[in-house]
Amino acid sequence: MRLYKFKMLLPVFIFAACSGPGNISSTSPDATIAELRKNISYLADDKLEGRRTGTPGELLAMNYIINQFKQAGLSPKGSQNYIQAFEVNDGKVMDKTVALAINGNKIETGFFIFPFSADTVVNATVPLRSQDAGDPWIFDIKTILEENKNDPHFDLADYVYKNSKKAIDRGADAVVLYNSSAIDDKLVFNGKDKSPMLNGVVLYLSRADAQKYFNNGADSVSIQIVSKLDEKKRTGHNVVGYIDNGAATTIVLGAHYDHLGYGEDGNSRNTSHEAAIHNGADDNASGTAALIELARQLKKSKATNNNYLFIAFSGEELGLYGSKYFTDHPTIDLKAVNYMINMDMVGRLNDSTKVLTIGGYGTSPTWGKVIEKEYFATKHDIKKQAPSLVIKIDSSGTGPSDHTSFYRKDIPVLFYFTGLHTDYHKPSDDADKINYTGEQTIIAHIMQLIEKLNKEPRLTFAKTRETQTTTSARFSVSMGIMPDYTFAGTGVKADGVSDGKPAQKAGLQAGDIIIELGGYHISSMESYMQTLGKFKKGETVKVKYIRGGKTLETSVSF
Ligand SMILES: [Zn+2]
Repeated sequence: MRLYKFKMLLPVFIFAACSGPGNISSTSPDATIAELRKNISYLADDKLEGRRTGTPGELLAMNYIINQFKQAGLSPKGSQNYIQAFEVNDGKVMDKTVALAINGNKIETGFFIFPFSADTVVNATVPLRSQDAGDPWIFDIKTILEENKNDPHFDLADYVYKNSKKAIDRGADAVVLYNSSAIDDKLVFNGKDKSPMLNGVVLYLSRADAQKYFNNGADSVSIQIVSKLDEKKRTGHNVVGYIDNGAATTIVLGAHYDHLGYGEDGNSRNTSHEAAIHNGADDNASGTAALIELARQLKKSKATNNNYLFIAFSGEELGLYGSKYFTDHPTIDLKAVNYMINMDMVGRLNDSTKVLTIGGYGTSPTWGKVIEKEYFATKHDIKKQAPSLVIKIDSSGTGPSDHTSFYRKDIPVLFYFTGLHTDYHKPSDDADKINYTGEQTIIAHIMQLIEKLNKEPRLTFAKTRETQTTTSARFSVSMGIMPDYTFAGTGVKADGVSDGKPAQKAGLQAGDIIIELGGYHISSMESYMQTLGKFKKGETVKVKYIRGGKTLETSVSF
């Protein structure tokens, strides 16, 4: 992300003079820290098994948040009490009716249909090497596996898809694949495969059955296939609470509370082969605890010119499902929303740099007037010239978290984030690594911002440039680096490098700044993502990067 440099505005004292009798936030820092500790410890406990959307751990977290909202004095504002349930598409499964019979013998196990197969019924008796339109075509993948066994870029899944498509386009009614070689093809049913659907069925048959029916000396074979795929669904739950001040406008505060469970959804960076609970203390028990704390404080606040809506989102880690569902099925009038504040990963403030990143800065001209580059929590800090927070600004209204869904509805947003770290999306993101004092400072900052805006007219919305929001899923290739979103210079700085991925294989390390990729100049996160979109699996391109002030070059193979 590109960070906006801007002029420091002088009256920092407006924020600072909050300790006298005019103080409207009534909660002491120590009380806040104790609350944060209690809530993060619960949400990031092993008992919740990583709060994966649609699991018992998510329900435990949901009930806990409902209780905290009740205790804070929020009224319910979900579609059913405090809860707003929504469905998450969990890929595909084979329907129970899927069946295969060869020469009249029902095959029970050892076969599967590929997830890009059409729903269809095939019933044919064909010569074993038929390539006639309307027949099933049978292929042994032995030769292709043997030819490519030393090619690290060979992608069998890709080969299977493309060649099945070719066969079906030429009229094959079905494609039956088997592997008679000694090479492990590792082909399994993958419900998350998003390849476009084909007009016929593609089926994998085990080596044993292929041997039995295709290598028995017969010239022909009769095949019956029933192919049918279902969408697998699970249910996620947003938790929604409300402070009704009878105002015309409402401020939305949000944080996602779901996390990765044991990493079953493929979004973990766990490098060990053992499944482990991902507690997600920073991501995002920290934001959820901040949300609960803000509910407590805003219920007592005298800033009553807006109503407040608090949403703990689920389904974020799977692709902002909860916030998208809410903005498509709002329980309040979205046109009455003044602005939205999202907190995602606010528990790792660095005590030496004090850097807090605030995204969404460009979504309203008001943000530029009220957000100072340096935040002083107390008068004492100002005298010592030591800011409690050093704020880095990102203009974009979009990003890898739930504020994006509100920005898309033309609502001004802010996104609070203390930065990526080596425990990000790993089982080691634990509660004992949270900077509770730092998080308390961030909450105080948000409180003061809201109170400062209380008497301001409604914010106007402004469109910003787009940031690519999602993971490598949209691209056919990825480098395997964790970008440092707080990096303000030119290029993309790696905060971490994933084991076994192209960047690591090319010798790149954490701290390296990528400035050129395949001849394309990399100025920002944006241009980096755009450039990645130009390459295909198997390509090798030159990378220019800066390490320790020197410009170096290597090659990366996708
Ligand atoms: Zn996350």
